[in-house]
Amino acid sequence: MLNDIDIILINTSHPGNIGAAARAMKTMGFKQLVLVAPKHFPHAEAEALAASASDVLQQARVVSSLDEALMGVTLVIGTSARPRDLAAPLLTARECGAWLLRNRVGRTAVLFGEERTGLTNEALDRCHAYVYIDTADEYASLNLAQAVQVIAYELRLALLLPKAKNQQTEALLADDTAMEGYFQHLERVMVATEFLDPKFPKRLLSRLRRLYHRARPDVQELNILRGILTAVEKKIGS
Ligand code: SAH
Repeated sequence: MLNDIDIILINTSHPGNIGAAARAMKTMGFKQLVLVAPKHFPHAEAEALAASASDVLQQARVVSSLDEALMGVTLVIGTSARPRDLAAPLLTARECGAWLLRNRVGRTAVLFGEERTGLTNEALDRCHAYVYIDTADEYASLNLAQAVQVIAYELRLALLLPKAKNQQTEALLADDTAMEGYFQHLERVMVATEFLDPKFPKRLLSRLRRLYHRARPDVQELNILRGILTAVEKKIGS
């Protein structure tokens, strides 16, 4: 999924930033780096700051124009420290992942501008959406590679984690039948211990339901809870 996303750095001035961006990408699982007319590349400083991400640098596609960089790309996202009056939706880095999940078909590119001047109007015009990293008002401009890091991290969380997490929890969570069995068991024990007077149940059970629904116990946790109830029943001889 992350392989369908190009990270495009436009006219980067400092080769160190290119290396640091490659490292930021690799740590987040991105590999497709595209450099549009970098001022100095290849360069020893890029290599030095890439550390163990030199493979990302070596595989980087170096092109001379944005047109070339965007060939085959169907969705373009522009990053900007100073969200201006823009024509397309403006997203926070956190919103960007969810937006991408809804809108992506084919290749996506995320554009990063030159260190001092940012994205040109020509680049901004190509974008389907803009994303900014929220910052202090006083100083909104992140270092280029740090901006790549934050965006790559947010995209990773949005694109990879929900799937892994859902698959995991779906199998484990106690289902409705198990929960209802537990609530009935809990009620029996509360009545047997005289914690609950069945003539005046008030809202106790619905309150407890709300608590357990919020916690969403898994099968194992529910087994523990039922084990406690069974132990109480045994002790009081009910
Ligand atoms: N004065 C420029 C700053 C450029 S910083 C501007 O306002 O855009 C170099 C690049 O880093 C930017 O083009 C953008 O791609 C990225 N960047 C820096 N700070 C950012 C932020 N707060 N949100 C999103 N991208 C940011």
